[in-house]
Amino acid sequence: MSANGSTKNRLQSLLETRPYLLADGAIGTNLFAMGLPTGHAPELWNLEQPEKVALLHKNFVEAGADIVLTNSFGGTRHRLKLHNAEDHVSEINETAARIARQAADSTDRDVVVAGSMGPTGELFAPLGPLSLEEGTAVFAEQARALARGGADVLWTETLSSREEVQAAVSATATTPLPVVVTLSFDTNGSTMMGINPSRLATLCRELAPHPLAWGTNCGVGAAEVVACIVSLAAASGAGQVLVAKANCGVPQWVDGAIRYDATPELMADYARLARDAGARIIGGCCGTTPTHLRAMRQALDTHAPGEPPDSATITNKLGEISAGAKQHWSPDFDPASGVVKRSRRRQAQERN
Ligand SMILES: [Zn+2]
Repeated sequence: MSANGSTKNRLQSLLETRPYLLADGAIGTNLFAMGLPTGHAPELWNLEQPEKVALLHKNFVEAGADIVLTNSFGGTRHRLKLHNAEDHVSEINETAARIARQAADSTDRDVVVAGSMGPTGELFAPLGPLSLEEGTAVFAEQARALARGGADVLWTETLSSREEVQAAVSATATTPLPVVVTLSFDTNGSTMMGINPSRLATLCRELAPHPLAWGTNCGVGAAEVVACIVSLAAASGAGQVLVAKANCGVPQWVDGAIRYDATPELMADYARLARDAGARIIGGCCGTTPTHLRAMRQALDTHAPGEPPDSATITNKLGEISAGAKQHWSPDFDPASGVVKRSRRRQAQERN
């Protein structure tokens, strides 16, 4: 199957026939709950405990996921080096894709395997040591291994800088697979490196190859993700496939560990609001279990999509939105530039 060959890509085909798709929940936090020791790389379990990784994928598929992400978020050479596994990039990523492929193919439904590619952990030039060429090579090594293992699409996630997005996306051109781009808007409605939803839409339109879908994952909770999807939909225009993959609540430190405490009911509300906001691919990130995902499946399957929610509805159902993400609802907000332009009337008021 090839993105540019005669056979249509599995994700493209599903998007053409379904109004929305359910992506899976968290990999990392669920593997920790299954016994992965603190400080151990989840990706090493593809080789050490493949049956546990397979079981998690299978539980998500049984909960109704149309898309499962591979256990390869930290599978670049730079991240694996922290665990002395940088010489096993190919083996780890290829195996991650094979395990997910097997789980996806264990059901009668068509389930997409998305090859997860997270940040390298290094800053790109000019702020850090990683050149665009080196970053592209690092991502390409991972992308090719995920493609060999049977991924249908490459899924770059939790990215934060323009250079990181450019490197990850151009790396996917070394494979026949399409690419999806999701950023984490975790800093007052923008990424750590200052990209807000409007700027992401502008950036994605310029990328080569052109991403099949873009959106947001992880971050600071479901309310913020839905607010960012409202902005992203306005900036991306009708027809663009958007992805929402929110954490299961706002991360909190409890007894030295990060906890996510959203209920399945809250994640069901989140799924409905994300759909109303304009997302067509909806899933969960950190903390989202198969139980949460089942509630999201049911919520989406029984929901008639409505108008994009206003900020009060999002806050009432899901919690607080940051001032930065709220800017979108200002009457002076310009979705094209992503900034609030002060009106002449406002400027005159301020002078008085
Ligand atoms: Zn997350």
